[in-house]
Amino acid sequence: MATSTTASRDLRQYECGPFLFSDRADHDWYDRHLMFDHVVSPERASQRERFEAVARSLRDLLTQRWLLTQQTQEQANAKRVYYLSMEFLIGRSLVNNIVNLGVEQFVRDDLTTDPQQDWAAVIETEPDAGLGNGGLGRLAACFVESLATLQIPAMGYGLRYEYGIFRQEIENGYQVEHPDHWLMQPDPWEVPRPQETVQVPVACSFRLENGVIRAVPGQASHLLGVPYDRPIVGYGGRTINTLRLWGASSPDVFDFGEFSSGDFVGAMLDRLVAETVTRVLYPDDSTSAGQALRFVQEYFLVSCSLADIVARFQRSNDDWNALPDKVAIQLNDTHPAMAVGELMRILLDQGGLGWDEAWDITVRTLAYTNHTLLPEALEKWPARMFELVCPRLLEIIYEINRRFLDGVRELYPGDNGRVETLSLIEESGERNVRMAHLAVVGTHSTNGVAAIHSRLLRDAVLPEFAELFPDRFNNKTNGVTPRRWLLVANRDLSSLITEAIGDGWITDMSRLRELLPLADDAGFRQRFREAKRSAKLRFADWLKATTGQTVDPDTIFDSQIKRIHEYKRQLLNVLHVIVLYNRLRDDPTLQIPPRTFFFAGKAAPAYQLAKLIIKLISNVGRTLDADPVSSGRLNVTFLPNYNVSLAMQLIPASEVSEQISTAGYEASGTGNMKFMMNGALTIGTRDGATIEMAEEAGEENFFLFGLTADEVADSRGWYSPGWHYDHEPETKRALDLIRDNHFSPDEPGIFGPILDTLLARGDYYMHLADLTAYSQAQQQVSALYADPEAWTRKAIINVACSGKFSSDRSIAEYASDIWGAEPCPVGD
Ligand SMILES: *Cc1c(COP(=O)(O)O)cnc(C)c1O
Repeated sequence: MATSTTASRDLRQYECGPFLFSDRADHDWYDRHLMFDHVVSPERASQRERFEAVARSLRDLLTQRWLLTQQTQEQANAKRVYYLSMEFLIGRSLVNNIVNLGVEQFVRDDLTTDPQQDWAAVIETEPDAGLGNGGLGRLAACFVESLATLQIPAMGYGLRYEYGIFRQEIENGYQVEHPDHWLMQPDPWEVPRPQETVQVPVACSFRLENGVIRAVPGQASHLLGVPYDRPIVGYGGRTINTLRLWGASSPDVFDFGEFSSGDFVGAMLDRLVAETVTRVLYPDDSTSAGQALRFVQEYFLVSCSLADIVARFQRSNDDWNALPDKVAIQLNDTHPAMAVGELMRILLDQGGLGWDEAWDITVRTLAYTNHTLLPEALEKWPARMFELVCPRLLEIIYEINRRFLDGVRELYPGDNGRVETLSLIEESGERNVRMAHLAVVGTHSTNGVAAIHSRLLRDAVLPEFAELFPDRFNNKTNGVTPRRWLLVANRDLSSLITEAIGDGWITDMSRLRELLPLADDAGFRQRFREAKRSAKLRFADWLKATTGQTVDPDTIFDSQIKRIHEYKRQLLNVLHVIVLYNRLRDDPTLQIPPRTFFFAGKAAPAYQLAKLIIKLISNVGRTLDADPVSSGRLNVTFLPNYNVSLAMQLIPASEVSEQISTAGYEASGTGNMKFMMNGALTIGTRDGATIEMAEEAGEENFFLFGLTADEVADSRGWYSPGWHYDHEPETKRALDLIRDNHFSPDEPGIFGPILDTLLARGDYYMHLADLTAYSQAQQQVSALYADPEAWTRKAIINVACSGKFSSDRSIAEYASDIWGAEPCPVGD
């Protein structure tokens, strides 16, 4: 081994993060991990073992800093932020940890001296931690990174799903789901802490009966929550916070009758059932399926996290009234809304506080972020599930509701309709708890995630609550971390920016505005184009190497990558492609700049129409490829298995960003922000944060089109897709081509459900209403692309104006407006 002969080095010579290292740090770690962790001779170690050795060495390197962060925060008894989320879509950690620690030089000099080290392969070996569905989970991951970078004492709490979001394969154009057993090999970043296990009381037991999991009512038991900690390295490596994920386990002795009755194996099987609680992530990000196991998962997250938070609080404080001064708990959507009831339970039953005092502390400690306007996503849980699993919480929720509604009746005497609207309990049919109502009533802050979303939340979704609690409603526009999404993902562009304005932008994205004058500098524009070109080439190489797919870097890279959902309107994009295709069929000499339309995204496994949209995209791609009229000019590529790593590859290479949701339905979007930072131009509707992005850069630097949210709402009731079919020849021809099986000659009729949705079932998401405006906006995109100088100028302006969409800005706003939390610098 080349490295083992080198003398130990003093790592303090490295300019970045010198405070990280003690004298004990040296590169032998890598060799030791490589050989001893797996008992394998270095020359025979597998790629996976090499990855683990690098990751383990880095973990060694950050350990002291991680401990120092905990000590410092504990000693300061500073206010801590707890971010509760059912999802953390982390992706890979290796490269980001290297960059945030500032040890690239060390890694290059020492870890890569291993002659067998193929650095790119090592990076690709790390599986994505896919513990989330999409935007909501990725937001949580960006937020914990920004919290660490801003040096705010904070902890993320989530679940350690053994199986993350499924791995998507495309077979004959159809999505096929495969399990993502990402923990099959031990994850080098996580630290299990069994000694800090917490108990979660459940009022029932879980058993296996004929292969089906059943809850046995009345047979109280408990689950164990085992913490698995992951370091969250802030940029500069000063603060290293913790993401604590709970794994479900069951007590060694289950007080079931079987042990005494001799059914040892039966009792062991029941134990396995208890451990299924954190087995798998629910793969649907936009509907609440009301599954009992999901309910238990949410209760488990809340119960474990609050027990942990309270125990930590009590180590340094003895007065419950200090809780809101020391603890801020943010609920990422309604999934952890049971925290309202659980914190009350702790304060009442454990703390012995009176109701009013407990309530005041609860409300001041908790805050709630709403993430969606889709009615089908609003969670409601049957009261009977509470009764089965955690009846004391239900008792408390009923009491919260009784007192709350008493107050409402006093304010609005005789207004029974209002009481029914506001109630935490839905009484029609089965009794349900409305989790969003519980979250608004039991917290001091309810925020939306973009200006328009917060307005709609206040005016359209929860107007009666906004009237009652006007001060609670506020906006915190989402952001993404510029470390992962620009610095790491796009080396070409980030070095160009640093060369031009210095590296202050990495932690202060408002500095990007210093690039504005350079939009008019022909030399800079040239270099900016070169950076994009090089990102496109790198993407093409990466794609070839990982999937075998080929793409032509001389085409416009146009991307729509996000969950597949009707409201996001991948269908609108495909319909436009078909419109272009028809134009080419009419006139093969037509000048259209060649484009590659990239699609990527997963469909919820039970969402049949979304899966059919994937099939349509695939088939259109295949047809256009085979037709000489379109081949090489209009390419449609569906990239399988969209995840964080794919996003990090494709976004830097993209020139057009598709953000075309039906206005009023995308709460914020965060993909839109990643593209803007990376110099893509956006074609989009006035929806979510895209509105604010265009405000920042100027609408003249965006391609906005289509109905506004108010226009969409106003046309409900009279909108008729059939009118567009009858009066717009290109719309009609596109739909007819699908109907005539042009894209499905071997499977006639398969796209019937799509046509039905658009024509027979009212086109709820108004594709046809926007298709003409969209096609016109696309024509402007093509026209501008033909003028590279004008295009580049707008792209530079977009990057320069993207600073607002750093999650550092979002977090700074949460910290001052909602949490009252401040940085707690960790010394050298
Ligand atoms: C950013 C991101 C999302 C969110 O994308 P939207 O376009 O905002 O829906 C979803 N999945 C992954 C992997 C992401 O990185």
